[in-house]
Parts: sequence; structure tokens; C-alpha cells
Amino acid sequence: MVESFLTLVRIDSESGQEGALRDYLRERLQNLGMEVYEDEAGKVLGGEAGNLIAWKPGELSGPSIFLAAHMDTVVPGKGVKPVLEGEIIRSSGDTILGGDDKAGIAVILEALEVIKERNIPHSPLEVIFTVSEEQGLMGSKHLDFSRVRSKLGFVLDADGETGHIVVRAPTQNEFTVTVLGRAAHAGMNPEEGLNAICLAAYAINHLNIGRIDEETTCNLGVISGGRARNIVADRVELKGEVRSLTPAKLDAVTGEMMAVFQEKVGEKGGRCEVEVRHLYPAVNLDPEEPVVQIAVRAARTLGKEPVLARTGGGSDANIFNGQGIRCANLGIGMKKVHTTEEYIEVKSLVDSTRYILQIIEEAGKMGL
Ligand SMILES: [Zn+2]
Repeated sequence: MVESFLTLVRIDSESGQEGALRDYLRERLQNLGMEVYEDEAGKVLGGEAGNLIAWKPGELSGPSIFLAAHMDTVVPGKGVKPVLEGEIIRSSGDTILGGDDKAGIAVILEALEVIKERNIPHSPLEVIFTVSEEQGLMGSKHLDFSRVRSKLGFVLDADGETGHIVVRAPTQNEFTVTVLGRAAHAGMNPEEGLNAICLAAYAINHLNIGRIDEETTCNLGVISGGRARNIVADRVELKGEVRSLTPAKLDAVTGEMMAVFQEKVGEKGGRCEVEVRHLYPAVNLDPEEPVVQIAVRAARTLGKEPVLARTGGGSDANIFNGQGIRCANLGIGMKKVHTTEEYIEVKSLVDSTRYILQIIEEAGKMGL
């Protein structure tokens, strides 16, 4: 298991450059007796590889489930030299480790190896390895869903330990607001200008930014504009986002913010151009539905108390759920991800593998 994980993190796979890892994984999945398909996402996105979708028929009549993880990593992710220090695997400090999400991949592969070696009966299994997740879930957004047969499954890409089951995750919008005023010479005729920086400031003062309520947040993250010190600024661009666990609130808060910009900038004689883009749908799983129940029962069988969690971030699970596939994101114990201090404990890899095996067993039982 550790060897397999170390091999995976040594294969470079920054977003868009997953070709070598795709080749390696395709071979391993085929050796596990799976039928492997690569979709066109790589071509569409201009990356080296598409998403891999693999299928293994089962002996049991339970529902097929899929297990998913993403192949790509953030930067700096080239030339990772993993260090095994006792029970901890970390990077050598100059790169990330890439446990996000190669821990998920290693766990899925190990569980499949165990099933093969011990001839464990199971219901049909599907594996989905996506590309460009770190680029805004681009791989899963372009996944060929016509090839996905399972109606429920699990993404292995959350923090938290075994038994941490993410059942709620927000939907998100991003927006760009361009505030337009009028340029003039700052010293000679400022009264002929209309300062876009001041217009933006006036509008922002009428906005609620940050945490809106328990399940809704918004942010202004970037502001840029103006041409020179001695020109009345005629243009300012703002970039921001809104997230909510409840889709109706996402729409309400986004709409309200855009209306405030229009109204307040208009009040002062300026003009506003707004552009809103919907990034991904929410995850909202019922504690009683099968996908959650499978994960809960599997955790209890292993003596772990399941935690049904909510998160403030998006993952491939959001995209799967948006396609009507019920999907929970599972904690696999990765720590300090997206930093050069990233690490994972060997115990987390082992526990997660046991957990996935138990989940597969629970799914198999559902047909009985
Ligand atoms: Zn991840």
C-alpha cells in the first residue's frame, strides 16, 4: 500500500499534465480485470489526458457503486520526493506531496487489489479518475456521463479521518462587476470626470460581504482599475463569489449584490456591467438515503462513529450530484493539502482502504 502510494506521488501530474499518470493507471486498472475507457475531456480542455472510467462486473446483485478520485495536483507538484518518516509520509519540503488526491487513488487501487487477491464477491464496481479537478472541477464538468453506469458512489477527496462523510457542500457563483465612470484630467478639470473608484466604493459600502448566514458566504476578492495618478479613474473591475448550501439563497444573494451595484453606481451617474457565472451545483444528501447509509453502516462496522459533515468548498462530488448521481465525499486523512508541508499518515491510508472494502461489502448486501 505504501509502495503504491509512493509510486503514485512520484509520477508528475500537475493539472493538464496527467498523461503519464493516466498511462500508469490504465494499466493497473486493466491488470485488476477492469474494462477501461478514456473520455474526450483532455481534448476539450487542451490537457494531456481525459478522465478514466473503469468497470468491473460483480457477482452480487447489489447496486453498482463508483469510487472516484482526481489524478491532477496543484503546483509545485513536479519531481515530488516523498519522505517516509516513521508513520508519516511527507514531501521533501520543496513541493506538495500530492496526497490530494493520490491518497484517494492509492486507496481505491489497494481495495481492488485485495478484492482480487481474496476473491471477495461484490456488486459491480466502477472507478472514475478525473483530470483538472484543481482547475475548477474542469475534468468532471467535461466527464462523459453517458459512460457512467452507477447511480451512487463516493469521491475520496475530503479532509477529515475515516468516517468523515461530506453530505452537504455549497453551490457557487462567481461574478465580475465592471464599474464605469468618466475620465478627465485630475488637475485641470476633475469636475468633468466621474470617478469609478469612488463609485465602486460607494456601492461596496452598501453591500453585505463575508458570512451572510449559517450556510451562505460571499466575497469580493479582486479589485483593479484606474489608468494613472493624474487621470480620474473611468473603469474599475471587481471579482467575487457567492456560495450557499441552499441554491435559492445563492440566487437571492447574487441577485441582490448585482442589484446593489447597479442601483448605487447608477445613483451617482455611473454605469455597471455585471457578469455572473454558475460554477457548480450543491451537494445535499439525506442522512437516510442509500449512499449515506452505506457509508454510515460501513463506518460503524469498523468501530468508527460516522460524522455527517458539511463543507464550504466544492469537489467532483458537486458535479456528480448535479448529474443526478448520488455521491458523498469521504475524508481520507490528508493534511495541509495545497502546501509544501502536506503529509499523510500511513494509518490513514490503511484505515481508508478497510473502509472502502467495507463500503463495497455493504453495497453488495443491498441486493440480498
Ligand atoms: Zn483534491
